[in-house]
Amino acid sequence: MNAIQNVTQNQSQTGQFGKAKLLINGEFVDSQTTVWQDIVNPATQQVLGQVPFATAAEVNAAIESAQNAFESWRQTPIQARMRIMLKLQELIRGKAKEIAKVLTAEQGKTLTDAEGDIQRGLEVVEHACSIGTLQMGEYVEGVARGVDSYTLQQPLGVCAGITPFNFPAMIPLWMFPMAIVCGNTFVLKPSEQDPLSTMMLVELAIEAGIPKGVLNVVHGGKEVVDMLCTHEHIKAISFVGSTAVGTHVYNLAGQHGKRVQSMMGAKNHAVIMPDANKGQTLNALVGAAFGAAGQRCMALSVAVMVGETKHWIDELVEKTKTLKVNAGHEDNTDIGPVISARAKARVLELIGSGVEQGAKLHLDGRDVVVPGYEQGNFVGATIFSGVSTDMRIYKEEVFGPVLAIICVDTLEQAMALINANPFGNGVGLFTQSGATARTFQNQINIGQVGINIPIPVPVPFFSFTGSRGSKLGDLGPYGKQAVQFYTQTKTITSRWFEDSHEAGEVNTTINLR
Ligand code: NAD
Repeated sequence: MNAIQNVTQNQSQTGQFGKAKLLINGEFVDSQTTVWQDIVNPATQQVLGQVPFATAAEVNAAIESAQNAFESWRQTPIQARMRIMLKLQELIRGKAKEIAKVLTAEQGKTLTDAEGDIQRGLEVVEHACSIGTLQMGEYVEGVARGVDSYTLQQPLGVCAGITPFNFPAMIPLWMFPMAIVCGNTFVLKPSEQDPLSTMMLVELAIEAGIPKGVLNVVHGGKEVVDMLCTHEHIKAISFVGSTAVGTHVYNLAGQHGKRVQSMMGAKNHAVIMPDANKGQTLNALVGAAFGAAGQRCMALSVAVMVGETKHWIDELVEKTKTLKVNAGHEDNTDIGPVISARAKARVLELIGSGVEQGAKLHLDGRDVVVPGYEQGNFVGATIFSGVSTDMRIYKEEVFGPVLAIICVDTLEQAMALINANPFGNGVGLFTQSGATARTFQNQINIGQVGINIPIPVPVPFFSFTGSRGSKLGDLGPYGKQAVQFYTQTKTITSRWFEDSHEAGEVNTTINLR
């Protein structure tokens, strides 16, 4: 695909995909930067391609092109914008398997999970096709004699999106389709670790008919992000990534007057009640803790076993032992590699801290070696029990296949523990009692709750509603909240006089008469 293939480059030097391009004013262009980073297959360390760290001039050019395109794009009829999304969803569906292969190669997750990554993003594009009703204003006739009030949901201007490595398809698709279909123009800054599959989606967006300048892409790291956060033309920033960077983005862009949403790190708990269906619950826990090698912001990292369920730990460990660690493209893989050697070193260090701080290690994934992929960044499933809240494996987001188990006696103790944790992304409850579920959903202070659902990521008719330490900003990505985020509500109060209307008297009060 044009966006990532540079046929003039020697592929043995730059990898199979060559150099990733920038998208500026409708053209996929080579960056003039001197700073490049290898895109590396985490299962093999093979260099797949290179990503540029765009120059300041290139970032400015991308923002300028978005600014120039805005006026005509916002005047483009809403059905025309919607039809581009209809085309885009068709194109993504047709190329999903091809994109999934690239996604697995650069990110490491299994092929089926890569297809899921694309599918969950595709659902947002499908929802964007309903923009005609989503972006409707409100109207009240007769708020005073002859006076009507109504609202317009108007696009903001140039918006920017900054995305993490762990969902290179879904998260860019949370952002640019909704922003653009609302009438904004967009500058996307994908993760520099795995931008290839994102660029394939961007190329499809251009093929679907997004006009030049409406969608732009710049690659890079902190410097590019900081430019987006401070540039006068950028009106809103959507960020998804770690807590440290998301807080920086929120503060910097906020200080520069931008609307910001930062969706950040997590520590997700599941509460297991003694009346839960044991087989289904244990399967759900294993899948949620170790799927995608634990590199999901909604991954399960703490199992809170209530009462007698502490006796289920051995069975949980046995089930976990059946998971197959291998390269994501190999058949029947359950756990692929983590994204980088650095990420692996960090996960191993955190596992070591758990041992040092006295947690009981039931399953140790540190020494896993995958035949044929000895260089891969593999970490096997790891399970600790006896974890206390002052341990690093409890306090820090591991972002690897590590499950911490804490045993408590009651539901109330479980809820108190979870409500005291600073993060608020997701939580699960496993029970067969409707009354327990109702108490839990009412009392738990977490933005996304699964009841017998291990990873409760809402579908796009709703919005992603992580809360507390996992989010800064009021409105979440996708769904109706995204329409609010990407539009400004303008309220019109209007009176039309009939020719015959008498002028009446001057009114110096605030009242409409
Ligand atoms: P990250 O914060 O390292 O990177 C995210 C983006 O910020 C990337 O585009 C990166 O280039 C940029 N960036 C990195 N360092 C920067 C800096 N110093 N200044 C400015 N920009 C910088 O995150 P990641 O490692 O790519 O992704 C994993 C994290 O994302 C985890 O913490 C995970 O929980 C979180 N995440 C959250 C959600 C959510 O919806 N809450 C979803 C997915 C991932």
